[in-house]
Amino acid sequence: MTKLRFRAVAIASERKPMEVKMPASKTSEYYGEKVFNRKAMTKYLSKETFKALHDAIDEGGSVNRNLAEHVAAGMRMWALENGVTHYTHWFHPLTDGTAEKHDAFVEHDGQGGLIEEFEGKLLAQQEPDASSFPSGGLRNTFEARGYSAWDPSSPAFIVGDTLCIPTIFISYTGEALDYKTPLLKALSSVDKAATDVVHYFNKDVRKVQSNLGWEQEYFLVDEDLFMARPDLALTGRTLMSHESSKNQQLEDHYFGAIPERVHKFMEELEYEAYSLGIPVKTRHNEVAPNQFELAPIYEECNLAVDHNLLVMSIMDKVARKHSFRVLFHEKPFKGINGSGKHNNWSLSTDTGINLLSPGKDKVENLRFITFVVNILAAVYKNNGLLKASISSATNAHRLGANEAPPAIISVFLGTQVSDILDKFEKSSVKDAIVVDSKKQISLGVGQIPEILLDNTDRNRTSPFAFTGNRFEFRAVGSTANCASAMTALNASVAEQLRTFKQEVDALIKKGKSKEEALYEVLKKYIKESRPIRFNGNGYSEEWKAEAKKRKLDTETSVPVIYDCYTSKQSIKTFEGILSEIELHARNEVKWETYTKKIQIESRVLGDLALNHIIPVAIAYQSILLTNVSKLKEVTDNYKVLGAEQLRLIEKVSTHVNAINAKVHEMIDARKLANNIESEREKAIAYHDNVAPYLDEIRYHVDKLELIVDNEMWPLAKYRELLFIR
Ligand code: ADP
Ligand code: MG
Repeated sequence: MTKLRFRAVAIASERKPMEVKMPASKTSEYYGEKVFNRKAMTKYLSKETFKALHDAIDEGGSVNRNLAEHVAAGMRMWALENGVTHYTHWFHPLTDGTAEKHDAFVEHDGQGGLIEEFEGKLLAQQEPDASSFPSGGLRNTFEARGYSAWDPSSPAFIVGDTLCIPTIFISYTGEALDYKTPLLKALSSVDKAATDVVHYFNKDVRKVQSNLGWEQEYFLVDEDLFMARPDLALTGRTLMSHESSKNQQLEDHYFGAIPERVHKFMEELEYEAYSLGIPVKTRHNEVAPNQFELAPIYEECNLAVDHNLLVMSIMDKVARKHSFRVLFHEKPFKGINGSGKHNNWSLSTDTGINLLSPGKDKVENLRFITFVVNILAAVYKNNGLLKASISSATNAHRLGANEAPPAIISVFLGTQVSDILDKFEKSSVKDAIVVDSKKQISLGVGQIPEILLDNTDRNRTSPFAFTGNRFEFRAVGSTANCASAMTALNASVAEQLRTFKQEVDALIKKGKSKEEALYEVLKKYIKESRPIRFNGNGYSEEWKAEAKKRKLDTETSVPVIYDCYTSKQSIKTFEGILSEIELHARNEVKWETYTKKIQIESRVLGDLALNHIIPVAIAYQSILLTNVSKLKEVTDNYKVLGAEQLRLIEKVSTHVNAINAKVHEMIDARKLANNIESEREKAIAYHDNVAPYLDEIRYHVDKLELIVDNEMWPLAKYRELLFIR
């Protein structure tokens, strides 16, 4: 093992940047060339088919068999011309990542040969063997069928020789077995609810779109070093290792020059992303060594989610080509920052209005306030659910760790918007509110100056922050499928907007003017949702105490946090999106996943500790013992001369014994937990009784790392893993 470590270090340090052959043409010329987008469709579909398909997409109409047949024919022609031989339904099961099963485009031609064929029914619907995907009991064993069905709102694309068709994945009885199905329903729900509310201000709006701009953080590690760390390879994070003397203290990595090897990787990645129609825009070093970020221009939410998953999978492929491994884990290394996936979210209309942009006149500003206040109310009512939507065994390492948002959801508005809401709360329709002219905010529900966008102060500690024309949900984990957070958020806002409209309409019915009614309800919401607003330091201990007082959800145990999914409020929030049965079933999957993740980590750590660490520590101790006994042979003064050796011998024994004892206690805790029937209780047992050992064992292993001869230590150390040359 030691040999493996040193060979890996030698290979990694000599590795040269890989040359990338980039097309000579401009980005705009190859952008989207692997996507069956509108441009390709105009070429391969008839005018009628094209129009019918887009009517279906834009108006949410249905795609019948006949239409699917025509689209499939065009798609097949386009794909074959692009060298494609296979196709797959591409879907997002309730595991990490995406699923695909490739089929060739061939059918018998009836003459003993084969022809390239792709029928409409194969495009529209498939029946992948679904029995091995998690369903939380929604498919009982004799009815293992699941269907994947085409999502025409996300265009098909080509990866390698395969045409990938984005699909939803549902059970035989129609329950969602994936992330996309509820996301699409939540998006349609927020569209309807927001459109109804926008009509108070703009009658001509027909559609409200939810937008998502994600920022993906990740680490890169040389592949040989990665292989020299079985824990990293098997769990995505290092379960042991002492901090490197130098890590991020000097803050010299953030926005620093990108290492050449990494730069080449990014170049190729961006080329791949552009050809797949993913508008990646920003790349830079992040805070921790070897940590980077990639962000595209924001897009419609469903498409953005697909693009994020697609980018994650091509990052993995391109990284391997460049002899790297990409780490998406939220906390691959102890002692330095972990990775998140900020979700920038906004609502905009088909008439080009960003509903989270302050406007230029009285009406526009009242509209802005209406949406901001309803979002506040939605986040307030559903703060536990929103936390549940981003909670996982892996993200738990990051949240609340003084580098990422705390495990409490609150909203940061910035002083300007906070002031506006405070003034609004005390105003009435008749007041032309003049907000503190020194600060140049003369809202009057008149004007919020356009400088607002640039002036919003930043608060990096907030999990949900207003950033000028959008909210940034920062608590999302870097491994997560954004669909989980986006479904919860859009569903919450939709439910809130519906309630709002009912209340306003009821007042209007009673004879109030529209403006009076809007004012009255908004003022009530501002007051009610005050506890969710927090502009202070989210990392502080005081905030935890304060949040508890405000009755916000402060639970930190992930398995318990999942209970929020089935609260009375959540069931109401998910009406028409996920049924109570589905919510319960999906929680079963979450608990099971949680248990498995901790179980795997616990096994890997146990094995490594017993088979890699203890033998090496004992071997080193034997050297010390030999030294002391030799000293004893030559001098009576050996206790003085060998004082340090004797001290180390004792220390090694202390740590070895502690590791051994704790590994066995951990195994016993696992055995007890494994006997628990209920997935929820089992996950709680893993959280309460197994997971703590991971830290306790690590503590002793890391102490040994500092003692044992560097030449003998088997695992690549942080200082070797973390600095790409
Ligand atoms: P920062 O790191 O300062 O938060 P970035 O520029 O890295 O900012 O990322 C900002 C992200 O927000 C980008 O993905 C961008 O496209 C997205 N974004 C910008 N405006 C909006 C908007 N109105 N709605 C949703 N996302 C947006
Ligand atoms: Mg950001």
